Amino acid sequence: MTQERSDRTGQVMSEGVMSTGEGMRIFPDVEACIDCGGCVVACKRTWDREIDNQRIDIMTMAEGTAGPQGENADKTGRLEAGENPGETSLPMQCYHCHNAPCVSVCPTNALQKEDDEFVTVHEDLCVGCQYCLSGCPFGAPQFPDSDDGSARIFGTGGIMDKCTGCRQRQDVGKGPACAEECATDAILVGGAGEIADELESRDSQPFFNREAMEIIFGEEGAQFFESGDAG
Ligand code: SF4
Ligand code: SF4
Repeated sequence: MTQERSDRTGQVMSEGVMSTGEGMRIFPDVEACIDCGGCVVACKRTWDREIDNQRIDIMTMAEGTAGPQGENADKTGRLEAGENPGETSLPMQCYHCHNAPCVSVCPTNALQKEDDEFVTVHEDLCVGCQYCLSGCPFGAPQFPDSDDGSARIFGTGGIMDKCTGCRQRQDVGKGPACAEECATDAILVGGAGEIADELESRDSQPFFNREAMEIIFGEEGAQFFESGDAG
């Protein structure tokens, strides 16, 4: 069941967490991310991941480059206009896509889209083929047990690991650790409408193109472009 923000007073640390549970998506706001690494630390500490296994990674483009309006200014507006946004950072993790390509390409059903729409890994079924690594547009699949980390034609490149959406935390009304601890509320958690409304209220844009948004949100991805022509 989806839990509204108002039900979770005292548990929520971040305004980026709008609702949790069934149907939630995790989505970045590139306007807000400052590449501090707090989400990476929060995830590793919460789930005790190995040093080389990052379930969330921050991708930074044009590092050290200022846009025409200076650093950290109107990145999404400039992206929408097709202009150089300057240094732009994007927290990359599993977005628990509606039309998850990883689920489609996995030959053993090790990746499954559950009834509550979380995408889960069934480790006992994974043969380490790494097809999901090729299928995911967002770089979410990790293979911490792979000997060299390279893609394989067929198994075994280790057991796939990825962001779980902190499903266990969400089961008790908490948001994902990364989002709860993000100092700038750059990781949004909620339904598609909540995330679209929040980005609009921040005068931010989705960063991804329409095709990518359709993968993450299905038909609901269209609403991110209703007030503009981004993507
Ligand atoms: S395609 Fe990538 S981001 Fe989408 S559900 Fe699969 S692993 Fe997660
Ligand atoms: S590596 Fe595992 S989870 Fe990924 S496609 Fe192959 S069997 Fe499925």
